[in-house]
Amino acid sequence: MIRLKDVVKSYKVGDNQINALNGVSLELEEGSYATIVGPSGSGKSTLFHIIGGLEEIDQGEVWVDEEPIHQLKDKELARIRREQIGFVFQQFQLLPTASALENVMMPLLNFTSSKTLRDKAAAVLERVGLGDRLDHLPSRLSGGEQQRVAIARAFITEPKVILADEPTGNLDSENGMKIIQLLEDFHQKDGGTVVMITHDLNLAERAEQKISILDGQIVSHDRRILT
Ligand code: ADP
Ligand code: ADP
Repeated sequence: MIRLKDVVKSYKVGDNQINALNGVSLELEEGSYATIVGPSGSGKSTLFHIIGGLEEIDQGEVWVDEEPIHQLKDKELARIRREQIGFVFQQFQLLPTASALENVMMPLLNFTSSKTLRDKAAAVLERVGLGDRLDHLPSRLSGGEQQRVAIARAFITEPKVILADEPTGNLDSENGMKIIQLLEDFHQKDGGTVVMITHDLNLAERAEQKISILDGQIVSHDRRILT
């Protein structure tokens, strides 16, 4: 489902070249639940952006659901992001001037009739426990609620993959657990693939797979059967 082969990615900063990923190969089957851990600057976000088709690579191959991400043009990447991938970020990234409902409708605004889309967005907000917050602006929601709106926005396209970059990083543990529960449900009930960057080692230990990255290389990939 997600396959990287010998991926190299560097950034130019002035005269210097920073090697963010130094030959990363990785395979995640459909329906995986994987966490990515590693110190700051080790390449986690770069890996996240590359899997999500948000960043070009210098060398190697990136496949998501049989699509060669490394070969696709911007327009096709935009389609894959829309159809296959839901993104969740540490800072929620909601549009502050739009209601919860409008934020959730956003990914499909130009692709679905507005009545259908409203109903669907309301249903997904209901699913994340925010059925009574549809018209609230983000500023009137708690951090945990804002992140649940972001999760609903990721769910609305019925993606195959959710990519989450420190989704609980700005939340207390109770609200963080609600987010993790939603991601685990997506994995268990919908058979979705979750790839989550986290600094929280407890979360990494809970996950079926833990990928550790250091200096732009994968140093371990633990898989375990959870009972
Ligand atoms: P992490 O997410 O693990 O903190 P990153 O993937 O953000 O790591 O960064 C990996 C390395 O690439 C770091 O040395 C970082 O400074 C560098 N880097 C990341 N993004 C950029 C960028 N847009 N321009 C220049 N250097 C970058
Ligand atoms: P229902 O039985 O009505 O589907 P759910 O609460 O499971 O009840 O879903 C409510 C809405 O959320 C539906 O419109 C459904 O399409 C959407 N939905 C549910 N799960 C997902 C998911 N994993 N990804 C995207 N959309 C979802």
